[in-house]
Amino acid sequence: MKKQVAIVGAGIMGLSCAYYLLEEGHQVVVYDQAKTGRGTSYVNSGYMTPSHFTTLVNPGVLRSAFRYLLDPSGPLFIKPNLDYQFLKWGIRFVLNANKKNVKNSENTLLNMSFLSKELYGELNKKLNFDFGFTETGLLQTYRTSKVEQSEKKLAKRARELGLEVVHLSKQEVDQMQKAPMNIQGAYWYKDDAHCTPDVFMNHIYQYLIKKGVQFEFGTEIIKLKKSQSNIVSFQSKNNTYQADQIVLANGSWTGKLLKTIARDLSLQPGKGYSFQMDNTDIEMPAILTESKVAITPMLGKTRIGGTMEISGFNMQLKKNRVESIRRAAQSYYPTIDFSVKKCQNIQMGFRPLTPDGMPYVGRMDGCSNLIVATGHAMVGWSLGPVTGKVVSEMVSNKKTSIDVSRCDPNRKI
Ligand SMILES: Cc1cc2nc3c(=O)[nH]c(=O)nc-3n(C[C@H](O)[C@H](O)[C@H](O)COP(=O)(O)OP(=O)(O)OC[C@H]3O[C@@H](n4cnc5c(N)ncnc54)[C@H](O)[C@@H]3O)c2cc1C
Repeated sequence: MKKQVAIVGAGIMGLSCAYYLLEEGHQVVVYDQAKTGRGTSYVNSGYMTPSHFTTLVNPGVLRSAFRYLLDPSGPLFIKPNLDYQFLKWGIRFVLNANKKNVKNSENTLLNMSFLSKELYGELNKKLNFDFGFTETGLLQTYRTSKVEQSEKKLAKRARELGLEVVHLSKQEVDQMQKAPMNIQGAYWYKDDAHCTPDVFMNHIYQYLIKKGVQFEFGTEIIKLKKSQSNIVSFQSKNNTYQADQIVLANGSWTGKLLKTIARDLSLQPGKGYSFQMDNTDIEMPAILTESKVAITPMLGKTRIGGTMEISGFNMQLKKNRVESIRRAAQSYYPTIDFSVKKCQNIQMGFRPLTPDGMPYVGRMDGCSNLIVATGHAMVGWSLGPVTGKVVSEMVSNKKTSIDVSRCDPNRKI
């Protein structure tokens, strides 16, 4: 049965949900507080990552947190904060940074990534635009023997899970592209892919408009109103709206909106930066592991992204962080000119971080018409289409294509 569906948020989650809901024959309206063309889903590194089967919340992240805590330009920064929600999130994060959480999350992350990459591939064939979808895999590089050892362990686990991972020497990496790299070696995750997010977002938005999806930009949804078992309406500053089903895909802000119906969805924004350069000598996407910087060739340009700054909804563009990303990139690609004047389009975005590193995808208990699709942290670009597909199946009361019970938003964390 055709339903009227309201989606809050026009990032990759919102637009993916809109696309698959439309395919299921539903009528869709998307609300966003911002204008189109901005935000996390436009500025990210565009990786589609079966390789990222390890949840962000793992024992290693705690070690990194302690190591970088006092370094103001380090790749991970946590601003101490006495806010109750932040403290609760932080305690849950620490309690979940263990091997059990990693193991319990692996299969779901892997299955979701594989299906999502397949869906991007389908979209690449079906939609008539080039968003730079490229299946050349991802290089996970290393410079030190310590990182080599941890990458070797990760590659072993990846192979056990069925991923194709090849070890490469520096010379072998250098044969793959024009720009030589200052590294010891790399693990090549051949199942990964990448694309150009802003190009994809702009085109799919145009496609959705043509197909009848309605967009209300500049509309912040500030309040949900609930009866005993349903969301009866939702409000912006000037209007009250109703829909058969409501999908909250508003990224890092979703927890705030759910608080208006007294629901606790623990989320913190993890700020990251990216910039671009006109360069075509880099042909392989690569993670500069020691510096935690991501490099992506994007339709003739190169995007450089990095840092995880947990400091609330702070829109400030911190120059020292961008500078440390730039310097790291320069040291890995000595023949490329990464001087400040070459770096264009410096932007930031908020990754929605859950305390166990797993997304929230599913219906909220006690609200039969409310679905949440957020909390994808570092893999939100990768998992956009699969999340949209699963949400559309939930709205249509169908069995989901994939088991996402591990992403239940009602889970105890
Ligand atoms: C530097 C960087 C690099 C990254 N690289 C990768 C990568 O290579 N691969 C990968 O998989 N992931 C990557 N990510 C993560 C990925 O970008 C995010 O997980 C993903 O974009 C989140 O999408 P979203 O739709 O949930 O949220 P968003 O893109 O943040 O969209 C949420 C939208 O909701 C709107 N909104 C919020 N509140 C309201 C409200 N109350 N009313 C109306 N509208 C509202 C916002 O304006 C926004 O447009 C990266 C992130 C960063 C910062």
